[in-house]
Amino acid sequence: SAAITVPDFALVVLIGASGAGKSTFARRHFRPTEIVSSDACRGIVADDETDQGATPDAFALLNAILDLRLKNRRLTVVDATNVRPDDRRKLVEVARRWHALSVAIVLDSGEDVCRARNAARPDRVFGPHVIRNQMASLRRGLRGLPREGFRQVHALRSEAEIAAVTVSRQR
Ligand code: ATP
Ligand code: MG
Repeated sequence: SAAITVPDFALVVLIGASGAGKSTFARRHFRPTEIVSSDACRGIVADDETDQGATPDAFALLNAILDLRLKNRRLTVVDATNVRPDDRRKLVEVARRWHALSVAIVLDSGEDVCRARNAARPDRVFGPHVIRNQMASLRRGLRGLPREGFRQVHALRSEAEIAAVTVSRQR
């Protein structure tokens, strides 16, 4: 099974459709304070983790936290879908400013798994096209990740791969 070794000081960007398991993966492999989540930021600015209208403010907060953490040389994991190059550009830019290495971890659980999991989540009510579109942008953008500035790209292509992977720190 795959082993991921991330630098001690890095930006780790999780990439995956809703329901792919990003927040679960982050909790399992990283410390709570290392994780910045777009949903948590929506909660902080709007008292509602699902308020899509709060997205611009939530990401302004997320970027500010990321900037300050990297300034302090703290490894930071961004837990958001991050499926489009436009979603990732700003993150990589902030990492560059602080000379942090950017690492992409792609969680591709497959459309059926994402949809089944979201069906069981009361706070994830959206049409089937949403997951399909997210998955399509994710797959379209995969090859371009190194060019975007990601020095490591780890693509986990099934539930089994996601479950089996280990994450360790380089020192
Ligand atoms: P979103 O983008 O909507 O926040 P997400 O990628 O963060 O989604 P999670 O919240 O981690 O996804 O997982 C979605 C649901 O699937 C949760 O209810 C979680 O408990 C469940 N789940 C995640 N990983 C697994 C797994 N390996 N096996 C079974 N259930 C899982
Ligand atoms: Mg999540």
